Amino acid sequence: MLHITKANCSGCSACANSCPVNCITMTSDTEGFLYPQIYKEKCVDCGVCEKACQSTNPLISTNEFEAYACVNNDENVLSQSSSGGVFTLLAVQILKLRGVVFGAAFDDSFVVRHICVENVDDLQKLRGSKYVQSDIGTAYRDAEKFLKEDRYVLFTGTPCQIDGLLHYLKKPYERLYTQDVICHGTPSPLVWDKYVSYREKKASSKVSRVSFRHKKLGWKDYSVLFDFANGTCYEQNHTKDIFFQGFLANLFLRPSCHNCFFKSINRNSDITLADFWGVEKTLPEMFDERGVSLVLVNSRKGRELLELIKEQIRYQPVDSQIALRHNPSVYRSAKPSKNRHEFFSRISGDSSIDTLIEKYTKVSLLDKLVLKFKIFVLKMLKRLRIR
Ligand SMILES: Cc1cc2nc3c(=O)[nH]c(=O)nc-3n(C[C@H](O)[C@H](O)[C@H](O)COP(=O)(O)OP(=O)(O)OC[C@H]3O[C@@H](n4cnc5c(N)ncnc54)[C@H](O)[C@@H]3O)c2cc1C
Repeated sequence: MLHITKANCSGCSACANSCPVNCITMTSDTEGFLYPQIYKEKCVDCGVCEKACQSTNPLISTNEFEAYACVNNDENVLSQSSSGGVFTLLAVQILKLRGVVFGAAFDDSFVVRHICVENVDDLQKLRGSKYVQSDIGTAYRDAEKFLKEDRYVLFTGTPCQIDGLLHYLKKPYERLYTQDVICHGTPSPLVWDKYVSYREKKASSKVSRVSFRHKKLGWKDYSVLFDFANGTCYEQNHTKDIFFQGFLANLFLRPSCHNCFFKSINRNSDITLADFWGVEKTLPEMFDERGVSLVLVNSRKGRELLELIKEQIRYQPVDSQIALRHNPSVYRSAKPSKNRHEFFSRISGDSSIDTLIEKYTKVSLLDKLVLKFKIFVLKMLKRLRIR
């Protein structure tokens, strides 16, 4: 029997995918996150779900990684991707081998789900970060089916999803390649759904396209963009978009993200992608205002993949300490907002989602002063250390 709590269940869905009698369904809680629900009448107590659970059987990786700064030479793909556009290049390599690529896409209602892509034209569905927890559905089972047919598979997602797949598969497959991201944490699908409805109401029209990382003003100054069926659009700098403010304030991340098992440089994936934040300071010659990826190569297969795309990127190896200096998400779980509980206790009330997020992300004057003081002290300490 599974022994999960909200603090340790990432919703990876390995239990539901592994159950031989299909007695586990992933069901939304009041915050909108999926958790396994077991139908006890159908359960045969075989223990398979327990073995597949990452919270009780962590896979420990002790790999050493190499770090690279990379920028895709294809301007079109680069401008549509969140960082340096490396994902698309990796995916194309697998498709060329008649393989398949799994990753997160919006469905017709803008729910984020893991899907499987078999041709280059469909890769645009996976391109770009969706800052919402993706529903794995039956993706692990589907990936296993392809692997058993000797097809190449690139499975992409958050570190907990890659780990969920490996727990589900239980054995290595030579034709499986995995790519994760350095992950800040995944926001609630319920909050996202309410935000989409709020935007549609404001525009009096259905959403037709969303980009969380629109680069019109550049990679660092990215905007959130919604296109609507009536031809109108909403575009706002990410620091001013209310959903993004709540995401960055850790107001509605999944509880397990605050206690993430995968905060480590020892990765279970073959290759890790991230934004190369701070590249203009640490490796100025690699800076590109349209985006730079930080690529961590974690295994032989990861090295093989990078080798295959080298002619299509501008790249430079970089010391791992320097590479991760501006990316604390690799080591540290996000600290929950102190307003998280209150925010969710009001989510099904009458207040509209923008009002709620605004109320609970507002920084008080006292907090602002404390923050300023902390920054001042840190600067002084840094100066003293330099002397
Ligand atoms: C929830 C989330 C949090 C992140 N946090 C950080 C961070 O703190 N620091 C950092 O440097 N980078 C973070 N990233 C990674 C970064 O945003 C880019 O995704 C990454 O650099 C790859 O960019 P790209 O240009 O190569 O490819 P892109 O085309 O931009 O990325 C596409 C890839 O992202 C995957 N993806 C998109 N949305 C999701 C989702 N909801 N769940 C799982 N996989 C998804 C797709 O499956 C595909 O593999 C995060 C990504 C996500 C999804």
